[in-house]
Order: sequence, then structure tokens, then C-alpha cells
Amino acid sequence: MKNILVLAILVALPLLGCSQGGVLNKQQLLHDVKVLAADSMGGRLSGSEGNRMAQDYIQQRFKEIGLQAYNKDYVQHFRFENKRLTVDKATNLVGFIPGKSTKAIVITAHYDHVGTRNGEVYNGADDNASGVGALLAAATYFKQHQPKHTIIFAALDGEEQGLQGAKAFVANPPVPLQNILLNVNMDMLSINDKGELYASGAYNNPQLKPYLAQIQPRPHARLVLGHDRPEQQHDDWTNQSDHYAFFKQHIPYMYFGVEDHPHYHQPSDEYRNINTSFYPDAAALVIDFVKLMDRNLEKLK
Ligand SMILES: [Zn+2]
Repeated sequence: MKNILVLAILVALPLLGCSQGGVLNKQQLLHDVKVLAADSMGGRLSGSEGNRMAQDYIQQRFKEIGLQAYNKDYVQHFRFENKRLTVDKATNLVGFIPGKSTKAIVITAHYDHVGTRNGEVYNGADDNASGVGALLAAATYFKQHQPKHTIIFAALDGEEQGLQGAKAFVANPPVPLQNILLNVNMDMLSINDKGELYASGAYNNPQLKPYLAQIQPRPHARLVLGHDRPEQQHDDWTNQSDHYAFFKQHIPYMYFGVEDHPHYHQPSDEYRNINTSFYPDAAALVIDFVKLMDRNLEKLK
């Protein structure tokens, strides 16, 4: 009997590894990253032609998946300027799956990157085509498994220019801010040799800690808590990506991302350098967390 059990586990393990336990389609996930990180998208700098091509692709994927739109389409335009760049028509893409409750989880990932410099394309495969790929995988999962709460999917622009898309989203949210009970932000999910995906934000949102503790490791990725204490100074990631705009509005958040690596903000952040065993499991861990929070969201407030 014991032997049969061991055999059954040995047979099942590679299957689970392949399909991330049925939570996502690995081939589709990798394809989405490959398309968004292609040279033809020119590094997706906010306001550029390549950025607009990325928008077209994401909108087409939102449509295929069957996300609903708050307006006639998924587009939320906004304007920003900083020292380097003025963009009159920056663009967030926002879709949703209605739940039985109007209380909502907002899943965010920025699709812009830093563009092309001296003829070299900064492809931003990890930063942050990987987060957008995982956002699309999460949307696909919840479209097929009706959530209790409304889940809003926001592919944000202008993160690399100072979290501009996230600021625009919370300044002009599609639902009242008090209905947003949680932000789950993904930024850089696909490169880590140690199999570690950081969940950053438990220090600021201690009520989320017991739920993070329930997320079981997957074969090639596990959650590690940290990078969220003020005394860590530049290693405190609280203000390092789009979740910061939600934090400033006192909305609980959890940020998922990897430790910095040699390809960070380099032309070598290309599709060929992402870790194709770690990344699907990392994306699946985030979906596991959203599933768990969807069942427990009312307990947060
Ligand atoms: Zn990023």
C-alpha cells in the first residue's frame, strides 16, 4: 500500500509541475511574455509606438479572456509629466470580473518599460512583461472559476516614470476606493535561481500574514516574506512599485516580486533569460494567494 502511494505521488508530481496544478497554462503564459518583450515593442516606453503596440496586445487578450469593461472599452487615459518625459495620452488598461459582492480585489502589473537607448532595446521581459503575463493568467483562471468578490485587472502604464499609472488609477478609480479591499501587485516574477518569490507588504499589512503562511510552496517556487521594513532603507520595497499608490490610500496590499538580478534595467532583460521553470510556479503562487483572499476578504476589515 505504501509503495503504491509513493508511486502515485511520483507519477503525479511532474504532471503538477507541468500544469501548475491546473491553475494556469504555462505555454500561454510564456507566449504572452515573449510577445510583450519582443524587439518590435521597442521596450514599451510610455508614450511610444511600442507601448501602444503592447496596449493593443493586452486589450486583445482581455477581450479573448472575456473581461468586462467599465466604459466602452478597457482604456483609462491620463496625462503626466516628469523631468524626462511628458505624455499627454498615457494609458491604463482596466477590465474586471464581477463577483457576487461589489467589494473588490485589484490586481495590478505595469506593462511599460524604459524603451530603447542608443539603439539598444531594453525589452523588460522580467520587468514587467512577466507581471502582465501572470495578470492575464489570473484573469483566465477567475473567468473560469467565478470569484466571490469582484476582481479588477489593471495593466498600468508609466510605472517606470514614477508610478504614474497607479497614481492615476487611485485618483480616478472605476469603483469607489472604499470598495477596494486589497491590491495585489506583481512586478518582476520570472528570474530567480533560488526559487524565491518575495511577498513584500506583511510588515505594513500584518493582517495578511496568516494567509501568506497558508500558501504551499510549488516545486520550483516558494514565497519568502520581507523587503518591507523602513529600517531596511533601500531594501524596503514599500515605495518601489505600483502598490505604493494603494498603500498611500490606506488600502491593504501585497507586492510579489523577485530580488534584483544582473538583468535588471539592462538590455539583457530578454525573454531568453527568464527562468521557465520558476516563473510559471511563481505566477501560480500569486493566483493561489488571490484565491485564498477571495474566500477571506471580508475578514480583512
Ligand atoms: Zn517594474
